[in-house]
Amino acid sequence: AIYLDYAATTPVDSRVAAKMIPYLTERFGNPASRSHAFGWAAEGAVELAREQVAALVNADPKEIVWTSGATESNNLAIKGAARFNSARGKHLITIRTEHKSVLDTCRELEREGFTVTYLDVEASGLIDLDKLAAAIRTDTVLLSVMLVNNEIGVIQDVAAIGALCRSKGVLFHVDAAQAAGKVEINLETTPIDLLSLSAHKIYGPKGIGALYVRRKPRVRLEALIHGGGHERGMRSGTLPTHQIVGMGEAYSIARAGMAAENERIRWLRDRLWAGLSAMDEVYLNGDMDARIPHNLNVSFNYVEGESLLMGIKQLAVSSGSACTSASLEPSYVLRALGRSDELAHSSIRFSIGRFTTEAEVDTTIVLVTEAVAKLRELSPLWEM
Ligand code: PLP
Repeated sequence: AIYLDYAATTPVDSRVAAKMIPYLTERFGNPASRSHAFGWAAEGAVELAREQVAALVNADPKEIVWTSGATESNNLAIKGAARFNSARGKHLITIRTEHKSVLDTCRELEREGFTVTYLDVEASGLIDLDKLAAAIRTDTVLLSVMLVNNEIGVIQDVAAIGALCRSKGVLFHVDAAQAAGKVEINLETTPIDLLSLSAHKIYGPKGIGALYVRRKPRVRLEALIHGGGHERGMRSGTLPTHQIVGMGEAYSIARAGMAAENERIRWLRDRLWAGLSAMDEVYLNGDMDARIPHNLNVSFNYVEGESLLMGIKQLAVSSGSACTSASLEPSYVLRALGRSDELAHSSIRFSIGRFTTEAEVDTTIVLVTEAVAKLRELSPLWEM
């Protein structure tokens, strides 16, 4: 099988796994044990990883809070900031193409009495700054916008959005789960207050992530998980040392290799797109320029996405996103771009990664081209 679903998850890089294993066995101490060497060794490893994660986004290690992944980071950032600041205002803004872990968190806050504006995006998948500015009210406390979209790979202009938020006194949260290690993130120069990170999208283990919480000016949150007061009270619970070590190593590898890796992946992406777009009635979803090279989301008109997936069983790709593919609803992200139900239903997300080869791309082009041709022959709507 050919794996082209790196946006869903990635394998743990063998260099990462090698660093993790000692922390499962001989270096098993609790990083909170301050009275003996077992604890000190674990604590040292956790703090090194904190530096590695902070370095990828140019932050202070003190601004990094460990969580179980970007889902938890999004919950902590949005609920934590909204609840802490609720005396100042109870209005939040987000966009329709956010990940469910942002949208469902906002829905939960609506049940608590907050009001949320769900902003539309343009056909490119990008947001219009004027429309955003018009949505900001005097009681708006937080805006949440993802840096890279998980389904279509488009990159939002978070520098401009952040500057707008700063000028209006609105806190700015960014879900960077799909962005870390793929696009430059510089938190020293970009006005972002809270930023969610995950390890398993970038060759680290599942079940570990982080939330960046700005210290200057200081951003305060109400905790979701109470207990021993770990992570400066923001997230209690014994730290999973091996997971944290894995995330640190994965981020360190990403930082060192990002430029070269992006170039190689862009070359593969261009090859894949050249092959697929040689067919008629093939449409790219999302802006072609403001996108990461790792993602190609394509609609094949006159073909039903689920049937196409069945026809290319050797390929691990997704139609819609992994978390919503259990339902047969067309992707809400593609619908938000204004795509018709037909085009939204006929979409496939190809996501390329570190271990993708040229031969895999070439085989993919052949398999998809054959499957699309076969399905179109059977379609009563196809008359070319
Ligand atoms: N946000 C985005 C944009 C994602 O793509 C994902 C991945 O599914 C998440 C959040 C959730 O991340 P995690 O799996 O670390 O909870």
